Amino acid sequence: MINRERICDEFSKQAEIDSPSYKEAAIAAYLEKRFRQLGAVVEFDDCGPKIGSESGNLIARLPGEKPGAPFLISVHMDTVTPAENVEPVLQEGVFTSAGETILGADDKAGIVEAIEAIEVLREQQIPHVPLEIVVTVCEEQGLLGAKQLDFSQFKAKRGIALDTTGVDIVINQAPAANRFKVDIFGHEAHAGVCPEQGISAIEIAGRAIARMQLGRIDHETTANIGTIEGGLASNIVPRQVTLRGEVRSHNGDKLRQQTEQIVQALEEEVARATIEIDGESKHASMSLELTEDFPLMQVTEGAPILQLIRAAGDALGRPQEIRAAGGGSDANIYNGQGIDMVILATGMEKVHTVNEEVKVDDMVKVSELLVEILRRA
Ligand SMILES: [Zn+2]
Repeated sequence: MINRERICDEFSKQAEIDSPSYKEAAIAAYLEKRFRQLGAVVEFDDCGPKIGSESGNLIARLPGEKPGAPFLISVHMDTVTPAENVEPVLQEGVFTSAGETILGADDKAGIVEAIEAIEVLREQQIPHVPLEIVVTVCEEQGLLGAKQLDFSQFKAKRGIALDTTGVDIVINQAPAANRFKVDIFGHEAHAGVCPEQGISAIEIAGRAIARMQLGRIDHETTANIGTIEGGLASNIVPRQVTLRGEVRSHNGDKLRQQTEQIVQALEEEVARATIEIDGESKHASMSLELTEDFPLMQVTEGAPILQLIRAAGDALGRPQEIRAAGGGSDANIYNGQGIDMVILATGMEKVHTVNEEVKVDDMVKVSELLVEILRRA
């Protein structure tokens, strides 16, 4: 049923089109044509200029013969770098890149599997509900494309993102994340001549960080200060330091509490850093940029979308392993907008490295599972 050769051909074609984030015009043009060939109505949204990408998100709509709400399939067209002149090589059933580039199986394996599944539905005349297929841009840059999607245009209430490593694995939970950037401002002074006239921004940061709980907070919460930058020279009491960090949790309350704990440590240490010079008091200050990076993804074990995938896997004699992930992906954004979306493994391995690979057998398996899911949706 699944056409192995067509998969190899499709994957080679897509892998050969370089598509690093922001430079997706060529792959977008290819996919527009390809989805039209499959009978879809294709359009792009206008997010390109807003996020600095050459392309908007591609939205392909395929009519269905079965009544019912559409089913959503989400993949992304951008890749990480190095992605210049990617040359896919197929050897003993495994695709790798020929040189010092990534392969782009993340997420082209997923795109190819979605295309193959649609080819099979058409060939075998398998009735299915309408499909809404979204190919986002700049996923690798912080889900930039997905964050710009206009969700009022989708009728689907459930779907699948094809975008994780392994095979026969389904991700149903992923944490929400907050990201922050804090500038702490003290006062400059000569460190040898008059240090008592300065307020060290680095000292304030140090004290605040020492009070923070960081790393793995509990089984579902993590926190990190990822960068610290500041100061000018060893003989100057530093006026400014900038911290960047994040908090993630599978629990919304814990995410909030943990973020508050970090902000509070900073605010209290900044408030405490006051000095008196000639009867005049000098204070430190801070400015905080707090962003909700992505919302929670939490599809319950009993949700219809998981029942559907389990049933499809069982029918193929391939029970699906349901698990939680530690990272955020486009699926978080859909879930935040009320669409029950889980992530299906695509067979890609060693992603985000020049050793990235994908087995043809695995792409065949995922396409087969996808056909079975869509037949039952
Ligand atoms: Zn990906």
